[in-house]
Amino acid sequence: MTQHFPNLFAPLQVGNITLKNRVLMGSIHLGLEDIPGGVERMARFYADRARGGVGLIVTGGVGPNDEGAAIKGGGTMMNDEDVAHHRPITKAVHDEGGVICMQILHTGRYAYNPDNISASSIQAPINPFKPRALSGDEVEDQIDDFVNSAVHAQKAGYDGVEIMGSEGYFINQFIAQQTNQRDDEWGGAYENRMRLPVEIVRRTRAAVGPNFILIYRLSMLDLVEGGSTMDEIVTLGKAIERAGASIINTGIGWHEARVPTIATMVPRAAFTKLTAAFKNAVSVPVVTSNRINMPDVAERVLAEGDADIVSMARPFLADADFVVKAREGRTDEINTCIGCNQACLDLVFQQQVTSCLVNPRAAHETEIEIVPSQSPKSIAVVGAGPAGLAYATTAARRGHQVTLFEAGEKIGGQLNIAVQVPGKEEFHETIRYFRREIELSGVMLKLNTRATPEALSGFDEVIMATGVHPRIPDIEGIDHPKVLTYIDVLRDKAPVGKSVAVIGAGGIGFDVSEFLIHQGPSASLDPVQFAREWGIDLTVATPGGLTGQAQIPIPAREVYLLQRKATKLGAGLGKTTGWIHRAQLQRGRVNMIGGCHYVKIDDSGLHIEVCGTPRVLEVDNVVLCTGQDSNDDLALEMNQEPTLIGGADIASELDARRAIDQAVRLAAIV
Ligand code: FAD
Ligand code: NAP
Ligand code: SF4
Repeated sequence: MTQHFPNLFAPLQVGNITLKNRVLMGSIHLGLEDIPGGVERMARFYADRARGGVGLIVTGGVGPNDEGAAIKGGGTMMNDEDVAHHRPITKAVHDEGGVICMQILHTGRYAYNPDNISASSIQAPINPFKPRALSGDEVEDQIDDFVNSAVHAQKAGYDGVEIMGSEGYFINQFIAQQTNQRDDEWGGAYENRMRLPVEIVRRTRAAVGPNFILIYRLSMLDLVEGGSTMDEIVTLGKAIERAGASIINTGIGWHEARVPTIATMVPRAAFTKLTAAFKNAVSVPVVTSNRINMPDVAERVLAEGDADIVSMARPFLADADFVVKAREGRTDEINTCIGCNQACLDLVFQQQVTSCLVNPRAAHETEIEIVPSQSPKSIAVVGAGPAGLAYATTAARRGHQVTLFEAGEKIGGQLNIAVQVPGKEEFHETIRYFRREIELSGVMLKLNTRATPEALSGFDEVIMATGVHPRIPDIEGIDHPKVLTYIDVLRDKAPVGKSVAVIGAGGIGFDVSEFLIHQGPSASLDPVQFAREWGIDLTVATPGGLTGQAQIPIPAREVYLLQRKATKLGAGLGKTTGWIHRAQLQRGRVNMIGGCHYVKIDDSGLHIEVCGTPRVLEVDNVVLCTGQDSNDDLALEMNQEPTLIGGADIASELDARRAIDQAVRLAAIV
């Protein structure tokens, strides 16, 4: 038996089930739940993760009744029809030797449903629909529905259920004072507010028997005003154990919290010390989670005694074989989740099928199959940015002879620029993954080699992944020495003065502004610094764990971030992360100005007009982040028409997600 990560690979007995390791695949909504053919796709998705060695899988949330489902008409587990619907999933996982629990998720006032319900009629700040407060009898009905759901999950072949009691959903809404203003037996004193989860667990255990796994997900840190304190959390955890839970999973932050909890700028394993503070209060196994994305991090968390099991969700979108690679000491082959949310949560919250920026096959396994080619070809790929890397390695894995030309001295393309931005360090892992994939797949890599039409003659296929050129806008004085591009600043580290105007407020304009205001070490590398800067009370002595005193660093520069559009700056940023980028810049006192007309740049600075009013920004430098144009220079020189991918194909709204997705899909069929 391999012992690369001894704590991670220690088996664990839960009831009459032996988990083969300490890895729990956390619940993540796939967006497949309610679409035609979705069950078959979910069966394949979960079976791949079971084959990849996950100890215990928890499905995405399933409603115990119609009003509890995430959206109107969303997936439920209530009756024999639902049982039949889910059976292919449990069978597929069991056929692979896996263990799978279904998460029962009652979303309460978070339901995107005008008929949503909660403890009290208090609208969530992230939902347009105000909930209806339940009567006492109706609360009893909801408990019955949880129990009924668990019983039907058991019939469907699940090994257990996870009752979702954190992240601000229905159960949490009863526990927290700010969302529960009832004066009956379900409200008021904490013992009344915690009655709902305890009753749900107690009655569920009675209905499903002693051996069915019953996980309860307990919020360790609400990050909202009026949330729980650690004393209350411990009291509830003990009661949940007495009521019959076999495992206590932990959750961090309500969805409406205005503190980042899982995005890429959150340090790895930032919250596991909270689980550690709770763990000794109970004797059932305790799970910890959030931004644990590599086996060494998981091993450290377990070795330090923070938890008994580690939960990872998005890392299994990024790599179905994470566990088997870790077990076999092939950590450098893991395709690491970078915490970007771009292809998972950002899509889920737009009611689309989830996927993964670094692994477009996630939840699309049946659609994008990587199988050996029947007619291997010689293929030249030009450019080792995300598009070229994904294409070259996928095609080579299929048996094609691939030569990858890169003009620069290293692979990664613009990702090498992105990693310079504080909070984007995880892109290093993507570059490392592709570097290893090049070795494993046999791609012939030619660095420091600018491809020419001559060098490309003789290949069966030529793939042009040459990326983009920064766009230089037509503004008077654009050649002034104080004008820099984002490449000058981020890649070439050009000196930048104390006051700066950033033209263009897309993703790169935001990143450059963040880079410019930042000084000192990045908070994304240190959980304590991160907690200090975001006002998190890691002892949770204060309700909800908010100190109310975020210690925001003094910005290194005075920055103006400008755009021509009159709309809110950053409106086009990621659905689940845009608010964080806007908050970071507001905290760094960046002046965000929309509706700008750029008049000229001269020794006195940048001359603009805002709503017809002239203004001079007396800045030392002007940094251009004004979008990009395709680099198709080489393609135009070619006699044969190459296949263009990534930025070389379409520069507008390009990101690494689209570049990799397009590349993998094309390489899968070449
Ligand atoms: P590129 O990454 O531009 O790669 C093109 C490669 O081709 C380069 O390495 C270049 O040297 C090479 N090349 C060009 N011509 C030749 C030639 N003739 N011969 C050989 N080689 C050649 N995207 C996200 O999804 N999420 C983010 O958070 C994110 N943050 C970003 C932050 C910054 C600061 C920047 C600059 C970009 C960010 N992006 C982000 C965008 C993302 O990096 C790009 O969309 C992506 O890199 C485009 O991939 P590509 O392969 O098409 O092109
Ligand atoms: P972008 O999002 O297209 O933004 C370009 C900005 O420049 C816009 O604000 C635009 O706004 C302005 N602009 C465009 N042409 C201009 C002109 N001629 N003169 C003056 N202003 C002009 O592009 P980007 O910021 O360069 O980013 C490139 C890609 O990288 C993006 O598509 C993005 O998805 C990706 N990226 C993603 C992230 C992420 O976190 N997901 C981070 C960085 C980059 P106005 O027209 O209103 O002025
Ligand atoms: Fe992780 Fe980003 Fe993939 Fe989501 S899209 S799983 S955050 S790498």
